[in-house]
Amino acid sequence: MTSAIVVGAGIGGLATALGLLRAGQQVRVFEQVAALGEVGAGLSITPNAGKALRYLGLEAELERIGSRPPAGCIRHFKTGTVLVQLPQDQSRERYGMPLYHVHRADLHACLLAAVQALDPHCITTTAAVRHVHSTASSASVELQDGRRHEADWLVGADGIHSVTRSSLFGPDRPNFTGYVAWRGLILGDLVPRELLEPPLCMTVGPRRLLMRYPLRGGALINFVAIARRSTWMEEGWSVRAGLDELLTEFADFESHSLELLRLTPANRLFKWGLFDRDPLPTWTLARATLLGDAAHAMPPFTGQGAVMALEDAAVLGRIMSALKDNQSSTDSHIINSDDNNHNELGGALRRYELARHARVTAALAMSRARSELYFADNPQQQVQALGAGMAELRTLYDYDAGRDEAA
Ligand SMILES: Cc1cc2nc3c(=O)[nH]c(=O)nc-3n(C[C@H](O)[C@H](O)[C@H](O)COP(=O)(O)OP(=O)(O)OC[C@H]3O[C@@H](n4cnc5c(N)ncnc54)[C@H](O)[C@@H]3O)c2cc1C
Repeated sequence: MTSAIVVGAGIGGLATALGLLRAGQQVRVFEQVAALGEVGAGLSITPNAGKALRYLGLEAELERIGSRPPAGCIRHFKTGTVLVQLPQDQSRERYGMPLYHVHRADLHACLLAAVQALDPHCITTTAAVRHVHSTASSASVELQDGRRHEADWLVGADGIHSVTRSSLFGPDRPNFTGYVAWRGLILGDLVPRELLEPPLCMTVGPRRLLMRYPLRGGALINFVAIARRSTWMEEGWSVRAGLDELLTEFADFESHSLELLRLTPANRLFKWGLFDRDPLPTWTLARATLLGDAAHAMPPFTGQGAVMALEDAAVLGRIMSALKDNQSSTDSHIINSDDNNHNELGGALRRYELARHARVTAALAMSRARSELYFADNPQQQVQALGAGMAELRTLYDYDAGRDEAA
């Protein structure tokens, strides 16, 4: 049986582990934190991500944990005037899968349960990887405590500060995009109804955006507030934030926006420096490859970072599944199936990269281009850019990672 190591048990790593277990591989996941979980924040699961989750067998779970976006609007920051009405989402009719908003922790829990149902012992926590090695015939990780583990191949899903990436391709620094984001969750019952008219709303102001939408059927209101900053001086890229700083940054926004922000509980507000990385010419070295933010961290202006990680995982799972089918049929004809396995694994990793590289590089470019447009000085310009941006973004939604012929 082919053995694989996955570095990182975030959304990308767990989706990958699930795809590989379903493909019949023996999987070990190494995760640095002691307790598995995700920070509280909302995530847009666009139809292309929904299709990747369908391939992974989680369509019903997605319907259970997801909220369909209600009709909404875009408002002027100062007057609160509605600049654009946003109709009810038509994704199911257009792309064959609805768009959902989910709580990150709910999606993470779903993936974790599905992985553990197939192999309850495959994840090792408190296992920070400090180095990765890849040779022509195997790959291995070296943990912080000195232990070493080897497998036939390895995938690094260890996020934007990936040790796998720097081990394989040398160090490079993430780029600060010039934006920071505050993300918060508010209990729906605490919010006066008039502040949620309509429940989904984006408020645009000079060089700033405030987006809110309901999660868990309205039990929580998620918001993300983004503003320009010349530097990121905090320790770490995601830190707990004080409400005062957020209120000062958005002080000239209309009163409903500010009243809503004031309802954020102190322990549910986080601030993120938004970073990305320049695309790598290749992600694969011998028996190791990269996936998700480790391969292609992008700014969140198209909401496609986790989505692309899910697509990567589905495509990799399909390729490994085809490899297994191929090996079973070859085994009955060829006696030396080990050599065959060695050659085919390397080819499978290159095939994965080939199937994914152009698409994620285009999504990264799209996301970078959005940043200048969405944060113009004038709300009318922002609205035009958002309209054009949404139309372009929808070109991504048709894709079905479970059917991509390149995989
Ligand atoms: C403000 C903001 C809003 C966003 N909104 C959206 C959105 O709406 N939709 C969307 O699709 N994306 C969104 N994103 C992007 C999304 O969050 C990321 O693209 C996604 O989390 C990447 O998943 P990942 O599994 O590749 O990496 P991560 O989520 O970073 O997971 C990496 C995992 O690896 C572990 N790890 C790291 N290093 C090591 C090591 N050395 N050893 C062992 N384990 C290790 C970490 O602990 C973690 O569990 C947003 C991002 C931000 C900042």
